[in-house]
Order: sequence, then C-alpha cells, then structure tokens
Amino acid sequence: MVRPTHAVVDLHDLTANYRAIRELLDAGAGASAPRIIAVIKANAYGHGASRVAQALEREAAERRVSPPLLACADIEEGVELRAAGVGAPILVFGALSVSDLDGVFEHDLTPTVSSPAAARALQEAAAARDVRLGVHLKIDTGMNRFGFRHDNLGATLPGVLRSPHLTVDAVYTHFATAEDRDHLLFERQRMRFEAVRAASAGLGLAGAWWHAANSAALLRDRRTWYDAVRPGLLLYGIAPPLVDPDLRLRPVMSLRSRVVAVKGMRRGETAGYGGRFVAPRPLRVALVPAGYADGLDLRLAGRGSVLVGGVRAPVVAVSMDSLVVDVTAMEANPGDEVVLLGSQGTAHIGAGDVARTIGTVPHEILCRIGSRIERTYNP
Ligand SMILES: *Cc1c(COP(=O)(O)O)cnc(C)c1O
Repeated sequence: MVRPTHAVVDLHDLTANYRAIRELLDAGAGASAPRIIAVIKANAYGHGASRVAQALEREAAERRVSPPLLACADIEEGVELRAAGVGAPILVFGALSVSDLDGVFEHDLTPTVSSPAAARALQEAAAARDVRLGVHLKIDTGMNRFGFRHDNLGATLPGVLRSPHLTVDAVYTHFATAEDRDHLLFERQRMRFEAVRAASAGLGLAGAWWHAANSAALLRDRRTWYDAVRPGLLLYGIAPPLVDPDLRLRPVMSLRSRVVAVKGMRRGETAGYGGRFVAPRPLRVALVPAGYADGLDLRLAGRGSVLVGGVRAPVVAVSMDSLVVDVTAMEANPGDEVVLLGSQGTAHIGAGDVARTIGTVPHEILCRIGSRIERTYNP
C-alpha cells in the first residue's frame, strides 16, 4: 500500500548526474582528475542512502571502474550502509568524541579525526584491537566547526602523528561560503588550506591525499579539486544556490500526491489554522493529503505553489497532514495528480525554487521530506 503522497527516486538520473560530474572532472583535469567522494549523509539527502550507494556501486561494476568513495555523517549511518551490503570505502565526516567507536572497526569505516581528543580515543581503540586504522584529518580553515585550527597545527599535529595505530591517509577542509561569489571567506579558506598543503612535508603529512570541494566549490574553482571532490547536492541533480553550473543535472527525487477533494470558499472566509488566509474573492480550493509532518514548510502558505494539471496552484494553508491549494484558475478534480516537487507537463518546481521561496537552502528541502513519505524507486 503506497500513500497518495509519495516520493519517486529515479536512480538512472542519479547515475547520470554522477557521470556528468565525472566527465566534468575528466575534461577539466585529464589524467590527474580527482576522485569523487559521493556524499550520502542524512539518508542521501532524503533519497535513501542504501539505494543510492547500491546504484553507484552497480554503475561502477557495469563500467568496470572502482566504486566511488562514500561519505556519511556518523558511524551509525555507516553501519547501516554496511548492513545493506555496501562494500565501497566509507568516510565518516562527523565528530566522534561522544560516539561508540566499535562500529568503525567492526564495519570497516574511515573516521575523520577533527580534534586531539578524537585522535587519542581512536588510537586507544585501535591499540586495544592491535590494528592500524586509516583516518582523514580535518582542518578548520575558517568554518569554525569541526577540525584542527589551520594556524595551530605545529602544536596539535605531532600528538596525532605519533599515534602508532593511526595513519593519516588524507587531509581535508570544508568551505563555509563556496556558493557566495562576493564573500571573501572562500578565498581566505582556500589560501589557508594551500598553506597547510605547502607545509605538509614539515608537518609530517607527506603522502596524504587532499580534498576540499563541496558541490559549489567544485563548480566554482578548479584549484579546489586536489585529489578528490565531495559533491552532495549535484548528485541529486540540484545546482547549489547562486551557482550556474556548466553541467546538465537531472533532479533525482520528485514528490507527488493527489487531490482528495475540491470545494468552494466564499469571499471573506478563512482557510486553515489561525484563519490567516482570507479569500479575497470566491475561490475553488483543493485539499492535498500532505502537510508539515511530511516535511512541507508552514511558510509555504501564501508563498509557495504546487502543480495541478501542469499549472502552478498557490498554497493557501499548510497543516500537519494536509494542504489547501487554490485551484480557481485550473481544472481540478478529486484523484488528479499534484506535484509538490518535480515536473508535470512542461512545468517544474525544483528544490531550489522552494528553498528560495522560504529563505533556506535546497539541502534542507530535500532532507526534510518526512519518514512517513514512502520512496518508490526507478528502476
Ligand atoms: C555535506 C557535505 C558536503 C557536500 O555538500 P554539498 O553542498 O551538498 O555538495 C561535502 N563535504 C562535507 C564535509 C559535508 O559535510
């Protein structure tokens, strides 16, 4: 039984996006093109992490190339991927200091070391098992989140590098403002990371590989490609806000529902909780069984729209389990398809459009599609 409101995830589109990124990198850098670390944290931005990982692995097997590295947010996400049979290398981005580290060893995950305390905990755990653990080292170049401060490595790194059971396989950083061309922090972060790289031999990091670029950075500046890039958004077919990609992307997920009822409103009547929407004239409205419990934002009321009959129908009210939309301008009947995200006829509503409407980033629109929404997969 599939609810009328459901998400359709097209894995052909996902692998097409992956290939498009691969081609862009190969065209730009030839033999020294970077590897791709496919970012599938947060359940692959709501698309289903195991299915996305399996599709990428299948695609690599068909093309007889090695699968991409995968990246997730925490150990628990990595363990879930392994339980689904995913064999590709998995990098864990998140901080580890309050996590159970067993999963790293039992499920062959590559942790990020982003503080001296995390390094000590991993060293102890690896020593207890008498194994050598490969890790990626995170440098904080200005995001002021996880990572070793870029300007204090002389003091903090020696302790990490002395750990006999840890090997620093890679060094990375993360940009805070890559999509904003006017923000000076991007260039500052890039230069700081360059400085660390230039000093890598002296710091004891020779031989490590380097990565920095999220989707926006990889589109914007080839100098951030290094040995690997870390696209998330691009894989799912969404261009980062403010960036115009020279890359053909296909949105992977659409969110669909059906009209359950159509009714009239008289002028001056209100719809929904709080009575905030007042009909300015007689209207026909349609009820759609999807609401904020499904991840739709309350702020879409009076701002957003959905597609009915290939035309945009304004959202009038959002409740927990339903939407009221204005269908005065079009033909609408119970049972008709409603598209909340995706294409209908020639019209399209993208995650970027919805994000702009309510003042957020497309990542949030995708991640918030609720757990009540069943994902159906193609193929
Ligand atoms: C989420 C994340 C990415 C991917 O970001 P996109 O904007 O979706 O490309 C890359 N690197 C790190 C460390 C991240 O946390």
